[in-house]
Amino acid sequence: MKTMTCNQLGGACDKTFSAKSFDEIAEMSKQHGMEMFQKSDKDHLKAISDMMALMQNPEAMKEWLDNKRKEFDSLPED
Ligand SMILES: [Zn+2]
Repeated sequence: MKTMTCNQLGGACDKTFSAKSFDEIAEMSKQHGMEMFQKSDKDHLKAISDMMALMQNPEAMKEWLDNKRKEFDSLPED
């Protein structure tokens, strides 16, 4: 298992997620983001709107994901 924080995954807090694969951890952070969105958490709303802006540019989004995937891959196993 590897661990990343909400902040590292483009979020807005120090909550940690642990998963075996990047796809899994990305999904966990997405679920958490949607939860915080429903609670109208100001910091997460900002992070989500930044992410939405990034998604308007598929190239930039792909690059961001590739970088995060590399970051995940380079982490030591817990
Ligand atoms: Zn968070």
